[in-house]
Amino acid sequence: MFRSFQARLILFVLLLLAFAQLGTALAVLSSLKEDNYRQGVQSIDVSRNVFDLLLEARAEQLTKGVEILTSDFGFKQAVATKETATIRSVLENHGARINADVSLLLSPNGNVITMTREELITDNTISDLVLAARRSGGSSISTTIAFGDLAYQLVLVPVRSPNIVAWVGMAFLLDQSLAEEIKGVTGQDISFVYGTEDGSLLFGGTTLTANEGQKLLDEIQHPVEILQTPAFSNDEKYLTLSVDLGVKNQWGLIHLPYDPWKESYNFTRNQLLGIFAGALAFALFLGVALARNMTRPIGHLVDFATSIGKSVQQAELTAPKMTGEFGVLSNTMKAMQHSILMREEELTYRASHDMLTGLNNQGAVELYLQGALPAQEGGLLLLNIRRFRDINNMLGFDLGNILLGKVANRLQAWARQVEMIARLGDDKFLLIFSQNITAQDCSDLKEVMSDEFEIEQGSEIRIDVSIGVLPLQLATKNVNTAIRRLDIVAEKAKSESDAFAFYQQGEDESHQRQLTIIRDLPHALEDNQLFLVYQPKVSVETQDCHEAEALIRWIHPELGFIPPDEFIALLEHAGGIQALTKWVLNTVLAQLSEWWQQGHKIRVAINLSAHDLVDEELPLKVSLALEANQLPVDALAMEVTESAVMADRNKVISVLQELQKMGIHLAIDDFGTGQSSLAYLRDLPVNEVKIDRAFIQHIDTNEDDASIARTSINLSHSLGFVVTAEGAENQASTTLLRQFQCDKIQGYFYSKPLTSVEFFAWRAEFNNKSNGSV
Ligand code: C2E
Ligand code: CA
Ligand code: CA
Repeated sequence: MFRSFQARLILFVLLLLAFAQLGTALAVLSSLKEDNYRQGVQSIDVSRNVFDLLLEARAEQLTKGVEILTSDFGFKQAVATKETATIRSVLENHGARINADVSLLLSPNGNVITMTREELITDNTISDLVLAARRSGGSSISTTIAFGDLAYQLVLVPVRSPNIVAWVGMAFLLDQSLAEEIKGVTGQDISFVYGTEDGSLLFGGTTLTANEGQKLLDEIQHPVEILQTPAFSNDEKYLTLSVDLGVKNQWGLIHLPYDPWKESYNFTRNQLLGIFAGALAFALFLGVALARNMTRPIGHLVDFATSIGKSVQQAELTAPKMTGEFGVLSNTMKAMQHSILMREEELTYRASHDMLTGLNNQGAVELYLQGALPAQEGGLLLLNIRRFRDINNMLGFDLGNILLGKVANRLQAWARQVEMIARLGDDKFLLIFSQNITAQDCSDLKEVMSDEFEIEQGSEIRIDVSIGVLPLQLATKNVNTAIRRLDIVAEKAKSESDAFAFYQQGEDESHQRQLTIIRDLPHALEDNQLFLVYQPKVSVETQDCHEAEALIRWIHPELGFIPPDEFIALLEHAGGIQALTKWVLNTVLAQLSEWWQQGHKIRVAINLSAHDLVDEELPLKVSLALEANQLPVDALAMEVTESAVMADRNKVISVLQELQKMGIHLAIDDFGTGQSSLAYLRDLPVNEVKIDRAFIQHIDTNEDDASIARTSINLSHSLGFVVTAEGAENQASTTLLRQFQCDKIQGYFYSKPLTSVEFFAWRAEFNNKSNGSV
């Protein structure tokens, strides 16, 4: 709530003012209260003096009234003659006239001679008074006295004739009427109270109403305590001071009505409260105004900063104009906004553009395709510069980059109608067409790109491009898949003779399968998913079997059986074939070592691929492996294809020579499928030719095949090679091959490839049947 600077500022001002005002008000009120009290006390003191004076004046007046009687001759006569009845009636009459409550005649010694209301005399206080008066010269005395519970003002006057013959006493009750009389002079309420024997306090007379009086007595129970300092009662309505009447348990009370003081106090207090509230309200108003004024520029800057946070572009509109420090701040923020804007624009540009050529980049392509896919019409065209890496190495990166720029320019000039031209990195350029791409388009583009590029003054270069096309019809909604399909077809285009290719349905899936195979093979090797089978080679002349070819098998956990040609071809591309060959070699040798130890001198041929044959260490590795398995060289044979030899002819031939020198039996596999003639084979260091099964399979029905087979066999023999026919599937073919004097036959007619156990059993039975030898 008080988070904002403005609110805090206002709160601070208000609190400060409130404290100051409260302090002042408390000081004023407390001194006012004290002052009021002091004035009250003063005024009650004055009343007390008046009270005393009034009692004294009344005593004098009463004394005079009594003296009129005592100086009356007739009365003196009556006293002298002791006419009690007369005296009594005179006393009554005269007492009534001067409003005395009790009248009495005393002997000079103080004994009561006669009195009205005799029941009141209970002790000899009066005798004592008379005696005291006589000792002091026998003049009149006045005092206060208690008869019963009540207090009276008593006047004693001597009757002289001429000596004192008696005393006349008259007592006047201190009662309501006296209280009212005093109130008439002082203007303040007066009470007379007395304490009873049980300790409670009662009124002798009072000007207070019965209610107020009762309340007062409840609060003031010990008048002795307020003889000097007055006390409040009745909710501060009265300030009461007690007056000692000189008689035990008798007091007069002066009540100063405190209401007026209280009212003036309350009035002042209310006034102060009013001022206080007014000042606070005013301060609040002023504080808000001031804070607004002070914080308005800050508020503007805050708004400005917030709007920059929301949108850098639109914030420009709300940039505040200010002077002073805020102006500096505002300008700094504007400059900041500007540079953020610039950077943002640059980032947006960079996010979607290739910095080198200014074309769009892969990000922009993906964004575009997200909106455009799926589509029924249109296509993606990916152009690659062939051997760009070599060109780059030759020219250097700077010129390489210039070349890329020129290619980009030429593409832009050619492809006026396309939706987007982008560079996806290196030498990959992508064009997005909204209409379908034709083979003619590809030829045109190739044509355009075949002109020289001038990359430096006077130096020109020609490039060769390959083009892959993905019709959008064959692109899924998923952008990544679409780009992958484009990559697949672009890769394919590189090896295509006219250097362009259109993506065909299903290529992606087979590509996926290829990726899976390449990915999983190393693991399969470790995991024993691979195993070898052995296919017998039967000697035509002796009709027995001492040789076999080892063939690999892989049952993939998901893809199931994978034909060896498929994964071996992939592995040759991906470069993992050597590990496989090593595994085959070791597995075969381990098996052979077992058989040879048992005396079965079987020769097993393994297949080598081009990659194996360029490894100059292969002969050494093989001889070490033979040694490790305690096998002679003639336990092992090797088959190589024509094409494998062609790959790097000189190196391969030297490796083969080495192997042959070691004594290993070598065969040319798949003979007839390659381009080379038999004469060409003459120089190869091999011992055997295996005629491909394509020529053998149908010799029983196809005369052309039969004559090719016969010629091949004859020619091979003439060059000194042993000949094996592969793929004889029936008796007729086998018979023909025997007629052609083929040396060995490997084919389903004898046996399909078998596991080692099966092969061993098959061979035992076969050799046994043919001539009893094993
Ligand atoms: P290849 O070296 O020409 O192997 C002979 C292939 O012909 C084998 O196919 C075999 O099963 C098949 N075959 C033999 N007789 C007949 C027949 O009478 N009729 C028919 N229709 N086919 C017959 P497989 O095992 O599928 O092997 C295919 C190819 O895979 C092999 O051709 C070879 O090039 C390659 N390969 C197999 N194992 C290995 C290996 O361990 N290393 C290497 N590098 N390549 C291997
Ligand atoms: Ca073979
Ligand atoms: Ca073959």
